[in-house]
Amino acid sequence: MVLERKRRKHVVVETVAAVTKDADQTDASLRPSTLSEYVGQTDMKGHLSVYLEATKVRGEPLGHTLLHGPPGLGKTTLAFILAKEMGAQIRVTSGPAIEKPGDLASLLTNLQAGDILFIDEIHRMRPAIEEVLYSAMEDYALDLVIGKGPSARSMRIDLQPFTLVGATTKIGAISMPLRDRFIHTFKLQFYSTDELTQIVQRTAGILSISVDPEASTFIAQASRATPRIANRLVRSIRDFAQVSGEGTVSAKRVRSTLHSLGIDERGLDTTDRLILLSIIEKFGGGPVGLGALAAMLSEEEESLEDVYEPYLLQCGYLQRTPKGRTVTKMAYELLGMDPPNGQQLF
Ligand code: ADP
Repeated sequence: MVLERKRRKHVVVETVAAVTKDADQTDASLRPSTLSEYVGQTDMKGHLSVYLEATKVRGEPLGHTLLHGPPGLGKTTLAFILAKEMGAQIRVTSGPAIEKPGDLASLLTNLQAGDILFIDEIHRMRPAIEEVLYSAMEDYALDLVIGKGPSARSMRIDLQPFTLVGATTKIGAISMPLRDRFIHTFKLQFYSTDELTQIVQRTAGILSISVDPEASTFIAQASRATPRIANRLVRSIRDFAQVSGEGTVSAKRVRSTLHSLGIDERGLDTTDRLILLSIIEKFGGGPVGLGALAAMLSEEEESLEDVYEPYLLQCGYLQRTPKGRTVTKMAYELLGMDPPNGQQLF
């Protein structure tokens, strides 16, 4: 089937139930809009370019794609880029925003040939709603049951060929039947300091501020390997520099802004340090379960698991064992504490 791509423009359609994390116009303007502008994730970009080229030639949709990784690494940005690269419309929604199977059915039946349906936080979709996706993904069809009891009958509605792009921070929370229906699955990686430095410079350019090279590297190192945080820091630092009348952001300015935000040069903030300190002081260094730790810190389990842990694990301050979380020797060193005698630490 050949899609009428040439005649269609890239249009973003936000559905009634749609959510975009970056409602803020500034964030939207910072988003790269092509694969070549999208920094890092080299392997994934390489694979996607091949799939895009091949499917374009065949006039087929890209194939359902699942993107997973911690928040702020560029999943939503990539979904928009894929739509643009395919010359397709993108409809944006999220797992929790779809309240009933009918909502999803109406989204699906309104898709045109080649469209992308982006479902953010797809792991939060309810099972009854998720089931609607199975035949939609596999056969481009909806199996609906009309009526109730003995008079109920099933009906099949054909859909236009489309691409589902799902994003999740928790791949493990996605059921096997759904996971199996994705053709491509990509894990987004944390970004290197070099890649984040490029992102910082790009963002500074868009915001028309000048950041000296050493300052860019400083910001990159404090960005928790995450573009969204890099952009957020650039904006805060811009405000501090502007108020003090500096034309070019210097490393000194970055250092003082980070200090006043309670962020150290590795990007760790007070909550990160509190997490490590609580495990050491209240749970003897671990292992401790997520629930107990969240209760102790009065934090949501989800934010501990999605926002804080991935970076602490990545830096090597925390380890996940079958019995729970344990701190490492590096965590004691970070906090200037002596590891306990006789305890085997990683
Ligand atoms: P996620 O959906 O994974 O939570 P987003 O796609 O919303 O993350 O990305 C957050 C912000 O970070 C975006 O607004 C964008 O400006 C920036 N960003 C993300 N990935 C990249 C990238 N690879 N290159 C440049 N900027 C990026």
